[in-house]
Amino acid sequence: MFELSGKRALVTGASAGIGLATAEVLRELGADVVVAARSEEALREAAATLSASYVVADLSDARQIDRLLAEVGPVDILISNAGGPPTGLPSAVTDEAWQRGFELTFMSSVRLARGVLPSMRSRGWGRIIAITSLTVNRPLLGLPVSNALRAGVTNYYRSLALEVARDGVTVNTVAPGYTATQRLAEVFKSPEDEARTLQEIPAARLGTSREVASAVAFLASNEAAYITGQELLVDGGWGI
Ligand code: NAD
Repeated sequence: MFELSGKRALVTGASAGIGLATAEVLRELGADVVVAARSEEALREAAATLSASYVVADLSDARQIDRLLAEVGPVDILISNAGGPPTGLPSAVTDEAWQRGFELTFMSSVRLARGVLPSMRSRGWGRIIAITSLTVNRPLLGLPVSNALRAGVTNYYRSLALEVARDGVTVNTVAPGYTATQRLAEVFKSPEDEARTLQEIPAARLGTSREVASAVAFLASNEAAYITGQELLVDGGWGI
């Protein structure tokens, strides 16, 4: 089994769902973990359960990301994750919704990665991993902002991987499929909608947050040192 003792990890969007499960798995593997999210109450509770420290920050705000990074200091592992961007039909997305999605989904992943990189490069070891989505390779009708911007994050991370590979820093993305969390309540419009989706998943079930978290933990390990610029789908075969 992998172990991460001596490594310090920052996991954002970690008061619930995939972020919280990732923080849990990294803690179990021995990492020192800092969790971040918007709402203090849930975050404080999560941090206490995990024996992690926490910083409240809204990831759609550049200044709050700067403050978060300053408070956390150097980290060895960054897990860039946040809530999903606005939903709706492709032709109906307003400029305001695009802008909101851009700040939350795209720029947060750019700003967090850029912020943690210098100290990783100087130490010659680092892991940068963004949580994206199954929509990266196969768009879903109601998620145009996610479809477009996750592809942007994926290719930006691949670009960054090219730049920093020789410094011992790997940069990858993990794309969850349909995973049983609060977010799915926004995605499924009805029980029939959910039943239809289950029929489309070769594994015939939703994924769990821990299944996504375990893939993230592998990419964060020493053992994954030669894997960079990759997108790892954890989707029960949906994207095949
Ligand atoms: P979730 O809604 O359960 O949890 C999201 C977390 O992000 C929470 O901790 C929340 O507080 C935090 N967050 C939301 N907005 C924030 C902001 N502005 N600043 C700081 N923190 C913020 O979501 P999840 O299901 O765990 O999904 C995590 C990511 O994976 C999302 O981007 C989601 O779109 C993506 N994803 C999820 C699924 C799925 O089926 N659950 C599938 C594909 C992609």
